Amino acid sequence: MKAFTPFVDGRFVPWNGPVIESVDPATGEAWCKIARCGEDDADRAMRSARAAFGRWSRLSASDRADKLDQLADGIETGWEELVGPEIRDNGKRISEIRGQFAGLHCWYRHFAGQARHMRAEKQDVSVPGVQCATHFLPYGVVVAITPWNSPLMILAWKLAPALAAGNSVVVKPSELASASTLQFASLAHAAGLPSGLLNVVTGYGHEVGNALVRHPLARKVTFTGSDSGGARVAEAAAKRVVPTTLELGGKSPQLVFADCDLDNAVNGILSGIFLSNGQTCVAGSRLVVEASLKDTLTERILDRARRLKMGDPVDPATQVGPLANAPHLEKVRAMITQAKADGARCLLDGTESTRDMTGFFVGPTVFDLVTRDMAIWRDEVFGPVLAISTFESEEDAIAQANDSAYGLAAGVWTADPDRAARIADLIEAGTVYLNHYRSVDPGSPVGGVKLSGYGRELGPHAVREFLQGKSVWTGLQAVPDPFP
Ligand code: NAD
Repeated sequence: MKAFTPFVDGRFVPWNGPVIESVDPATGEAWCKIARCGEDDADRAMRSARAAFGRWSRLSASDRADKLDQLADGIETGWEELVGPEIRDNGKRISEIRGQFAGLHCWYRHFAGQARHMRAEKQDVSVPGVQCATHFLPYGVVVAITPWNSPLMILAWKLAPALAAGNSVVVKPSELASASTLQFASLAHAAGLPSGLLNVVTGYGHEVGNALVRHPLARKVTFTGSDSGGARVAEAAAKRVVPTTLELGGKSPQLVFADCDLDNAVNGILSGIFLSNGQTCVAGSRLVVEASLKDTLTERILDRARRLKMGDPVDPATQVGPLANAPHLEKVRAMITQAKADGARCLLDGTESTRDMTGFFVGPTVFDLVTRDMAIWRDEVFGPVLAISTFESEEDAIAQANDSAYGLAAGVWTADPDRAARIADLIEAGTVYLNHYRSVDPGSPVGGVKLSGYGRELGPHAVREFLQGKSVWTGLQAVPDPFP
């Protein structure tokens, strides 16, 4: 079985300690081992990153940008080697992963470009005889904690702006999918990223993850994962007054009006909930449809969902792969069972359609007659499960959309641009898609409201999230005697 060790100070470090097995979700068989790191390993990684920060932060912004461009070149030529480990860890389809990784270098180039334009800002102040400017300083060592669903893309959203800002980064990937991140660190080092700027330690969140967050050298924490994990991380960071950015879960609504372009809406709804088998933070898991359109829309969705080809994620013909790991499989199955017990009508049962498949499979699942007290309406499944409810008025549609503890994303499908604009303003979510769904781009911020988190990644201020302002006042004339 392949064994991965932590990557610290530009090399894989020898490991004789405890290990965690990572299981291939397409087969249910363990395929690699990773180190179960602890407090001492966290400490070594943090110290190495602090030393690297000292060197990196003294470079000019443009020298750092050159290094990031060099890293982007390395990713552009070397990304193929990252595909295998990620598929085996989380079962994402090969075409999806190849698409993500072929564009991975773009995130790094984008934030290298932003770093080139960073400079102090002169401020207008009313005090006579002074100049005032805001300078921007990196934090130091950033702790980045990532989930299993898209380890390298989510890492890029953190690592590229954090490095561009002049920080160093210690990453703790999910214990359920660490291999691609370790392989990426080695690729980044080979591409010229200085030793210690990107260290990777592996293991459990409550062990090594917690040790990193509590470490005296941690100056900023950026976390993507569940709301419960995020709350624990934020609590530990707050004890040392360390700021956090939290990108958490969602229960995103898709509002569909009877006047919509039905083909577009169907495609948007399918991509929202069944791409990556529903294991995306922006999964459009609540379909809130105008009552008069419900039967037609539901039939169209069921027809397409029934025909999706499930199977091996390395087969390019596969349209829906497995769920990523065994605990998640159990959670999704349990939520489907609960929804049935709560009285939702199961129109398509993905536990039945995959009964004879080896591996962690649950297929597209659709529930009708979902009411707002049901867990399937309220809780994130993070799987291919769509919950349908109906509305009679625009007001009701908005009320249903906002009836959630989460607020990550929402979709609106209507031919009426005024209505679309009105709803975009009223929906409580970090992102609203109008007659569109799921796009993400380095130029546009992502993040949530309510239980979906706080802080933003990407967008024009992404590098700023990793910088602190410092006001520098310069006297230009004689200082008056304060006690004349
Ligand atoms: P998770 O919270 O279980 O784990 C995420 C990471 O946090 C893992 O690396 C884990 O080891 C670590 N962790 C957990 N507890 C910790 C602790 N006490 N201290 C330090 N680290 C700790 O989440 P998951 O199951 O890996 O990921 C799925 C979740 O991620 C879903 O809720 C999904 O919506 C969310 N997600 C959000 C976004 C976004 O951009 N908003 C993107 C992808 C996934």
